[in-house]
Amino acid sequence: MQRIIGIVGLAHCGSTALSRLAACLPEVASAGEIHWLIDATGKNREKKLCTVCRSRCPVFSKNFLKKKFPVKRLYSAVANQFGKEILFSSDKSTRNYDRFVPVNTLEAIILYKRPVSQAFSLRRVMSLRDGVTAWRNFHLKALGWAEMYAKSTTIISLEAFMAHPQRNLRILADRLSLETPKNIPNLKNIPYHHINGNHRAHSSKKIFVDQKWRKRVPENFIKKVQRERPVRSLLNYLDAESRRILCP
Ligand SMILES: [Zn+2]
Repeated sequence: MQRIIGIVGLAHCGSTALSRLAACLPEVASAGEIHWLIDATGKNREKKLCTVCRSRCPVFSKNFLKKKFPVKRLYSAVANQFGKEILFSSDKSTRNYDRFVPVNTLEAIILYKRPVSQAFSLRRVMSLRDGVTAWRNFHLKALGWAEMYAKSTTIISLEAFMAHPQRNLRILADRLSLETPKNIPNLKNIPYHHINGNHRAHSSKKIFVDQKWRKRVPENFIKKVQRERPVRSLLNYLDAESRRILCP
């Protein structure tokens, strides 16, 4: 049985940046949002193309994309296509992992960012207020879900991870017993084939966490969220778990 490592997180949680970094781990097939291979139809059908090479991809080739994948065999088909034993997925929702991964096999990485930062990323689909509520509900549910259905759980703060991406990638690889290359190349030199994902994160040559929200969200909203106990206590818990793993 191949190993499956999967990011659990909300949309725009930073999964594309982490997936790009994971692509430089020699044993790992970092394939992106694999569920689109099954779910991309109609006006979404382009989403199953490799974001880097589009229709010319040697991995997600025309022949491969033509195949019909049984839901339970999708992940192993993708890993085989890369010729690797370990699949790294950024399918993110627990619902996707329920569909594709047998119970107690997923090595889950819960990737989260600051609640207001997350709400700001979701502002086109919901209000900031609803975004903060979505942040809380998602992570509470994800923690409970991982406890029940994942083989292991690693909790990671996006901001903390990306403050020292190379160092933290080694720490993460170590924790997951993965080989690391001697030198982790610059992001722009890491070859990767990836389904969908955040296009800005794909094209950027550098890793950075977007901090626009600090200027664009009203100060009193940020302060109000910081005072909310249910949000604060969940964030404290996640941060404490993340600090146990990552370097300060
Ligand atoms: Zn490609």
